[in-house]
Amino acid sequence: MNNIINNMYISELEEYFLDLGEKKFRAKQLFEAIHKQKIKNLDKLTTFSQDLKDKINNSSEIYGVKKVLELKSKLDETKKYLFELHDENVIESVLMKYKYGYTVCISTQVGCKMGCAFCASTKKGLIRNLYASEMLDEIYEIERLNDINVSNIVLMGSGEALDNFDELIRFIELISAKEGKNLSKRNITISTCGLADKILKLAEYDYPITLTISLHNADEEDRKKIMPITRKYPFDELIPALKEYQAKINKRISFEYVLIDGLNDSYQSALDIKNLLKDIKSHINLIPLNKIKEYDEEPSTSENINKFKKYLEDFGFNVTIRRELGADINASCGQLRNNYLEQ
Ligand code: SAH
Repeated sequence: MNNIINNMYISELEEYFLDLGEKKFRAKQLFEAIHKQKIKNLDKLTTFSQDLKDKINNSSEIYGVKKVLELKSKLDETKKYLFELHDENVIESVLMKYKYGYTVCISTQVGCKMGCAFCASTKKGLIRNLYASEMLDEIYEIERLNDINVSNIVLMGSGEALDNFDELIRFIELISAKEGKNLSKRNITISTCGLADKILKLAEYDYPITLTISLHNADEEDRKKIMPITRKYPFDELIPALKEYQAKINKRISFEYVLIDGLNDSYQSALDIKNLLKDIKSHINLIPLNKIKEYDEEPSTSENINKFKKYLEDFGFNVTIRRELGADINASCGQLRNNYLEQ
């Protein structure tokens, strides 16, 4: 196996240095250099002799990202990045500025196999999983490029994080390591289309992250039409899994709901949500559909969005309408990569 040194825990780096015939304490030094000082090139590592650096360079890889394109929104401070990986695949990440700090939305896979009808990321299928180091470097590279410290991470870019479970766990552990970036797990949000078995597996880790479910329709038959994953994980599996997750983690679960004109924005759709989520402490985030060329439907009108919000609030739900950031730069996932691949 390759020694991907920016994908390794300190304990693994210790093994690696011992195998090289070096001292164990080098592991923590290298880990700090990668995850705290955010070096990308060993040349900058002044505490290591050239000899040692050569040894490391000859026996390891660093899998990160390289900027291909940066788009800046003229409407707000959102920036969207197209990054290239070591194997020339490309992914997208988004930097958003909020009052409380910087948030980065990262991709977790190259492409996606979930097949949601309205989502650009899935249109060319799944190419491969990202390594934790590549997910980390989406964030570190944005920090380096902008000279900022990112405080919140959302795993809501291209891909299905729970379909890349082992690297997801590694990513969470690495980014929250006290010897590294030391990001609070509370500041991580994971969005999923609802892989019930993986949600139960995630519960075992007891992370205080925010879990977000992409719901988009609370009528099972209608949800199947736009989210084929519903066939594999029907509501009678998903909902009990969410309840079990919540019993263990005891945090509100968020639900994303993309509003599509005439398709899921009626009073009946709101009633369906009420019935489905009645025993779950939830927060609902309404998102007007972002138009993509492969999907013909229209976003709900702002009048209907407000009406829908009111129905849900009257049922006692906690609801927000997602502020659109970077509307002028195709900031929703997958579109930039698709345009790039189609050039
Ligand atoms: N696989 C994960 C995360 C990726 S998608 C998931 O399904 O949650 C991130 C969010 O953007 C999801 O809620 C997804 O449904 C939503 N989304 C995808 N395409 C969209 C579009 N065209 N307009 C609005 N939201 C979209």
